[in-house]
Amino acid sequence: HAKSKGRNNHQFFTSEMNARVVRRLAIESRLHRALKQGEFELYYQPKMDLVSGKMTGAEALIRWHDPELGLVVPEQFMAIAEECGLIVPIGRWVLREACRQVQTWLANGLHAVPVAVNISALEFRHKDFLTSFALTLKETGVPPRFVQVELTESLLMHNAESSMAVLRALKRMGIALVIDDFGTGYSSLSYLKQFPIDTLKIDQSFVRDIVSDGDDASIVSAVIGMGIKLKRRVIAEGVETQEQRAFLLAQHCDEAQGYLFGYPVPAKEFALSLDQQVHGLRE
Ligand code: C2E
Ligand code: MG
Ligand code: MG
Ligand code: MG
Repeated sequence: HAKSKGRNNHQFFTSEMNARVVRRLAIESRLHRALKQGEFELYYQPKMDLVSGKMTGAEALIRWHDPELGLVVPEQFMAIAEECGLIVPIGRWVLREACRQVQTWLANGLHAVPVAVNISALEFRHKDFLTSFALTLKETGVPPRFVQVELTESLLMHNAESSMAVLRALKRMGIALVIDDFGTGYSSLSYLKQFPIDTLKIDQSFVRDIVSDGDDASIVSAVIGMGIKLKRRVIAEGVETQEQRAFLLAQHCDEAQGYLFGYPVPAKEFALSLDQQVHGLRE
């Protein structure tokens, strides 16, 4: 395309590409430093029970405060972290930090909720993943029921047999398992049946238009129905409106997560909503 559109477009194209490469290299070298200097932070977003309106848990979402780039969101660095292998130490930091945070809430007498951490493919396949995970639980002393793990469908199906072994080991540790972005990958229903998964999380791309798009509405209802039949919990992500909430409730979806209920926020701010739960100030 660049060629047929002539010289100016071609130059524009290459300078745009250069900018991207430069940014990428900058991010890679800064990520190393970020880990050492403690520039990462976990934000927490609530998950709500649709019937009772109570908070059932939180998802930990990584943020990066780079001194020059400012606040960087995961989509701008997690793929790079994965490609250069830094995802493994970053993932370890995420789990440790989430466990440490839960312990702090408990120690402060707050009504702590289980925290779900996202695990990327490279972390999950790493030979030391389970050992490291178990060690972090032990060292932080966090009760395993306060830790959950979110894994994507594609990750699990990539090598389903070895996934199964890791999932079983996590379950034996007492960790609840969530399939993230459900519906966007390719799922084998026979594996889905066998995996010891507790919760299906419907991807936000299906939730966005449930009120206006009949196909999305059908897909979401079908996934909820399957969850009920398979005795899995179902959570919808990306819920932003009361209409979406009402639809999900009517379809008997168990839980929801999204800007309607709360944005991902730093731990300090999140702790305020835990406090409110204890004193019944919610609603
Ligand atoms: P995810 O696990 O599917 O997380 C959901 C994403 O949707 C989050 O983006 C969240 O901020 C955003 N979100 C939540 N509610 C709404 C809503 O109502 N509307 C819309 N439009 N978006 C909403 P975020 O924080 O930028 O994270 C993006 C992805 O990065 C995550 O997708 C996850 O795959 C990955 N990620 C985030 N933190 C970690 C981490 O600590 N480790 C790993 N391995 N991956 C992470
Ligand atoms: Mg997630
Ligand atoms: Mg998701
Ligand atoms: Mg997603």
